[in-house]
Amino acid sequence: MKMAQVKVCFGGTFDPVHCGHLGSATALAKRLKVPVTLLPNRQPAHRAKPGASSKQRLAMLQLATESEGQLLIDSCELARMGPSYTIDTVSSMRAEIGPHGVLIWCLGMDAFAQLHTWHKWRELLQFTHLLILERPGSELPQDAELKAFWQQHQVAELGQLLGGPSGCIASVCLPQFAVSATAIRQAFEQGRTPPATLLPKTVVQYITAQNLYKVENK
Ligand code: ATP
Repeated sequence: MKMAQVKVCFGGTFDPVHCGHLGSATALAKRLKVPVTLLPNRQPAHRAKPGASSKQRLAMLQLATESEGQLLIDSCELARMGPSYTIDTVSSMRAEIGPHGVLIWCLGMDAFAQLHTWHKWRELLQFTHLLILERPGSELPQDAELKAFWQQHQVAELGQLLGGPSGCIASVCLPQFAVSATAIRQAFEQGRTPPATLLPKTVVQYITAQNLYKVENK
């Protein structure tokens, strides 16, 4: 019998990409034994305009994943005009992989805690599963509707997501990386170079060469 296709996606602003994204995505790829696709958004719907352009954020992702065979990049959200709504991305992915393919959309706990503010958030599960990644210091959802939605759809094990194409929410605790893009941008703003434990050297070199995240660029 032919196995259903499994697609695992990890969306974000990646301004810049860092070891929290990369470490979580590679650990997940190992656990699920499938590559993880990173999807940079063009115009994040819930936050200020990124400090780096779409082209620069994509270039940093390419540098960071050069030697990571299990990490892929999909720039479909960069090519789409207007706000980058996840519902649009997962619905077009569903059309691509067909009704039986397994689609898993990963997001950190901080992002999941705000899910109820996303465009058509309740409809996401018609197209995809959600996989919540534990993140150091992240608060659990507080919104009552979101908590009920989570309880209604949650499954205990990551592996259960592979049993159907969409509709479930799992969470996973991977190696923890206490790093955020905000802290990295602040370091560059203050003229400090963040250590290689926080982001790849090639990305640091790119940020420096492009003079990114300087106060005068704001
Ligand atoms: P910023 O500090 O600018 O808000 P960020 O570090 O949260 O950025 P994003 O690009 O906004 O990075 O995040 C993309 C996705 O990666 C989100 O779902 C977020 O929760 C998740 N994520 C970011 N950092 C980590 C981390 N250290 N561990 C686990 N998940 C993370």
